[in-house]
Amino acid sequence: MNECIFCEIVSGHLASEIVAEGDQWIGFRDANPTAPSHVLVVPRRHVRSLDELTESDADLAIGLLLGCREVAAREGLGPGYRVVANVGEEGGQAVDHLHFHVLGGRRLGWPPG
Ligand code: 5GP
Ligand code: ZN
Repeated sequence: MNECIFCEIVSGHLASEIVAEGDQWIGFRDANPTAPSHVLVVPRRHVRSLDELTESDADLAIGLLLGCREVAAREGLGPGYRVVANVGEEGGQAVDHLHFHVLGGRRLGWPPG
């Protein structure tokens, strides 16, 4: 079995600071924040990346997006925030468990690198 750090966080075996959670997802603080508020929203079930989602995952997909919105509200990101999913090696995905970055608390530049 491959170790997956986000599965370890979901199961509680690896510590994290949970900001919000739902039936199918949890949102926890990124260990190396790149903004004053940097939270990762991940499915409880191991899904490798956005590329692996199918139409049968529609409920999960909506849950994750609403989870991002809930995290932004809890973090007080009313002035604006960004939701990012890195996909695959060239997309900058380092952890192979689907996650949305929710970033805010400062003015965010565009385009990203
Ligand atoms: P990616 O580059 O895959 O889109 O983002 C992975 C993110 O996971 C990075 O921002 C990184 O800081 C975060 N990360 C990696 N390991 C851990 C960990 O053990 N705990 C937490 N909370 N975040 C992690
Ligand atoms: Zn996993």
